[in-house]
Amino acid sequence: MNFLKQERTTLKEFFPDLDEKLAHIPLLEMEKPQNPAIQIFRELGGPRLLIPTKYAGLGATPIEAVRVQRAIASRAPSLAIATTMHHFSVATIVEMIAQGSGTGLEWMLLEGIAKQNLYVASGFAEGKTGSGILTPHMQVKRTEEGSVTVSGSKKPCSLATSMDLLTASVSIPNKSGDGSELAVIIIPASTPGIERRPFWTNSVLAGAQSDEVILHDVKVPEQLISYTGNSGNLDYVQTRGFLWFELLISASYLGIASALVERTIAASKSITHCERALLGIETEGAMAALEGVAQSMVVSDNNQGNDQLARVLFVRYAVQGAIERVTSRAVELLGGMAFISSSEVAYMFAATRALAFHPPSRLSISPALDKYLAGEALLMQ
Ligand SMILES: Cc1cc2nc3c(=O)[nH]c(=O)nc-3n(C[C@H](O)[C@H](O)[C@H](O)COP(=O)(O)OP(=O)(O)OC[C@H]3O[C@@H](n4cnc5c(N)ncnc54)[C@H](O)[C@@H]3O)c2cc1C
Repeated sequence: MNFLKQERTTLKEFFPDLDEKLAHIPLLEMEKPQNPAIQIFRELGGPRLLIPTKYAGLGATPIEAVRVQRAIASRAPSLAIATTMHHFSVATIVEMIAQGSGTGLEWMLLEGIAKQNLYVASGFAEGKTGSGILTPHMQVKRTEEGSVTVSGSKKPCSLATSMDLLTASVSIPNKSGDGSELAVIIIPASTPGIERRPFWTNSVLAGAQSDEVILHDVKVPEQLISYTGNSGNLDYVQTRGFLWFELLISASYLGIASALVERTIAASKSITHCERALLGIETEGAMAALEGVAQSMVVSDNNQGNDQLARVLFVRYAVQGAIERVTSRAVELLGGMAFISSSEVAYMFAATRALAFHPPSRLSISPALDKYLAGEALLMQ
């Protein structure tokens, strides 16, 4: 089959055995909280994917990364979503080094992640509908020795069970006491005061381990804090981080939708060829748009950040729309017997819907995108 051939070829180049191993695990087995795919991915060196080779990583380019995510999601939806959170955190650290904006110790962190195959969770959301991810409500206090203490809850936080490191967004009071600054902390998951609690009660995407992580007066030294600007005016590193996130999460959900399309091709029922070809037109058009953004990311240009962010968001919502159309048609083409005889079709159909819930939601960012089209800078909330 030519469908997904490019993506699975790229996946094989990085992880020769992964696709075969995933293909042998029943889909619904991998989608349970005990998801065996997360451990398999770790054993095959998956956490190294986006780390540059000079820090012992695999040095995947943005285009290779979107292909890998689509291929993985077509077999293991929860693994793709969970690893998107990991790769997004790692990519942001790589961007910090490229911009020289971190503490200067980030390369050691990347080498540690690559050599020990560590998972990095990404705690931005706090489980409060209506409150944007760029307005964290964790309680942060400055201590006399120059560190900070952080208390509060991050939920959902994918990889909550398997994480070795936690990145979390916080708002840190200025030393002068007259305001605060957005920052990301990067701390070992074994730091005293970190607790995990069950949070994700839906069986759909339960294999991503998106539970609650609670911080009880967790002490964070200044060297583990990266300041990222303010929510209205994100700095370049944070902007690049968002680009990576939107790209990888879109490719992942496109991969889940592609698994449904693949089944319609394999089933080859006596339906018109045009209907099946239409699914290919939609999915390959969406993938080409993602690859276009990925290609443009290879050149890092401080003056282009805001335009690139707008572009990736337009593409993400276009992909979201294509997924909605493709999956409802694919389910129809597969037919009632496929729907009735196993929960897998309904599972994948439901799982693809969750792209709409990842920040920023289309409805929340649409006014800002509208103003951007008319000439204003794009402001994230
Ligand atoms: C599988 C999965 C894994 C996840 N893992 C993580 C993770 O590891 N780390 C992490 O940080 N997050 C993660 N998230 C993201 C997190 O779940 C979302 O931030 C959360 O789902 C948002 O909740 P909400 O939709 O109720 O809130 P909101 O984003 O507030 O949306 C509620 C509703 O209001 C609308 N809305 C919101 N703002 C506006 C506005 N200004 N104008 C008009 N309408 C608006 C939205 O479109 C939506 O319809 C994950 C999500 C999923 C689905």
